[in-house]
This record gives sequence, C-alpha cells and structure tokens, in this order.
Amino acid sequence: MRQVYVSGSYLPESEARISVFDRGFLFADGVYEVTLVLDGKLVDFASHMARLRRSLRELDMPFSLTEADLLKIHRELIGRNNVSEGLVYLQITRGAADRDFIFPTRDTPNTVVLFTQEKAFVENPVAIRGQHVITVEDLRWRRCDIKTVQLLYPSMAKMQAKSRGADDAWLVRDGYVTEGSSNNAHIVTSDGTIVTRDLSSDILHGITRAVVLQCASELHLRVEERPFTVVEARLATEAFSTSSSGLVNPVVRMDGAPIGNGLPGVVTRRLRQIYLDRSRASAI
Ligand code: PMP
Repeated sequence: MRQVYVSGSYLPESEARISVFDRGFLFADGVYEVTLVLDGKLVDFASHMARLRRSLRELDMPFSLTEADLLKIHRELIGRNNVSEGLVYLQITRGAADRDFIFPTRDTPNTVVLFTQEKAFVENPVAIRGQHVITVEDLRWRRCDIKTVQLLYPSMAKMQAKSRGADDAWLVRDGYVTEGSSNNAHIVTSDGTIVTRDLSSDILHGITRAVVLQCASELHLRVEERPFTVVEARLATEAFSTSSSGLVNPVVRMDGAPIGNGLPGVVTRRLRQIYLDRSRASAI
C-alpha cells in the first residue's frame, strides 16, 4: 500500500488522518506544490521550493521546515513507493484551530502532507495526439500567482471541457487568455514567435513555463511575454501548454476549430523534447 507523509510520520495511506478543524479543509487556507519525478528523481526541485516560500510569504503563513528537510521527505517517499515516473504532491496548511476567519496564533503547527502518484507523463497519448481545449471565462480570485489549494473553479472549468468532449479549458479575462485550468498557455504566431502571457498576479508563475522560455531563447526562438487574445490563439500556427505534469503539451483544437493544421506543431514538439532531455539531465 502507498506510504504517505503527514506532519512528521510516514504512514500507509489508509491510516493517514488530518483534523476536521484543519484550515485547509475549512478555508482552503493552504498552499501546494507538485514536482515531476523522472527516473525516480525530482525535476526542478529548488524552483518549486522557491515558489512554495513565496506562496507562504504572500499568505503570511509561518513554516519551519527547511528545503533540505523537504528534499529528504520527497526522496524518502519516492523510495518507499518505488516511483520511477510520476509526481510528488506537497501541501502545507495553516493547521487546525477553532473555526474562525481570523488566522490562529502563529505558533499553531502547520499540517504538512506529501504523497506520490505514479503516472506515465512522457508517453501520454493526449500529448502525442494534441489537446482539445475550450475557452471559459476566468472567474478565479485575483491572486492566481499564489499556489493555493482553492481549485474549485479550475476543477469546474475542466468538467465543462470534459462535458463538451475536450481535454482542458483555457481561461479568458477581458478577451485575453490568462492560462489553462492547471497549466500556462502559449501560442506560436505565423512568424515563429512564441507568445505567452507576462507574469503578474493573473497567472501562476509556472516553473515549466520559465524553463521552456529559457530553452526557447537558447534555441534563438523569438519570445514575447504579453497577453494574447482568443482570436490570436485561433489564428496561431501552433499552441501548447506547460506544466509539471503535462510537460510541454500541444494544443491542436480550440472551441472545436483546429489550430494551425490541427496537428502538434514542430516548435512544440522540439520544445517538448528539449525540455525532457534537460529535465532528465538536471533532475536530482
Ligand atoms: N497555471 C496553473 C493555474 C497551474 O495550476 C499550474 C500547475 N499547477 C501551472 C500554471 C503550471 O505550473 P508548473 O509548470 O509550475 O507546474
């Protein structure tokens, strides 16, 4: 049975417990990270931990474990569960206290949960055929840069996509694409420029996004970080999303119409391969 980590203990998943008063459960008062595992090793671990620190700081959530402590737990879980390819999920909440909108005292212990999920992310059939997306209004709160566990709206958007026979939803605010339900959104224009929304509180600052843009610059591909409209996306020659679990994922249809020739594009496929090679080489 899968072993999980809960606030200091490794336990079989069926024995893991958290309090009904946990603020993660009652208020979504928690942050998380998802780190890709390839060949049993962690991809971009330090960047995930830097973003975790930022999320904690933005929510004024005290947390005492160090990056070295967290690395040890991640590795222990990968080992105990014998994960070769998959992910490690980490969630930290403000802990358990009587229900009150006011934060509890700063010495309330955090709840820290980690678990692994095995999954074949590289040989993913949807990545090979290309994703179909729909566009939906972005009705999330205005601090999408903080990686909180309040994921109900993205979950609803994904359900809407599913009910319409698509794979994912791209979120739209004022006619401009913000990001995917759980990934960053990118297009490639007819002159080969990669366009992706600039960093702000409108989107999550994706770790994969940053690495892929770095790879693109090294390949001397042109990159523009700016908002793009739904119309631009429809007219793009290629589109793709980036995330730790989707890697670089081609998007080939939007709202039922093909993007470009309706097949995963050359720039997208090249970036996916380069991202994979780089991730395997640098994983720890
Ligand atoms: N945007 C959103 C809304 C996300 O949920 C995610 C993944 N959690 C991303 C972007 C991609 O981030 P990363 O590349 O760090 O996985």
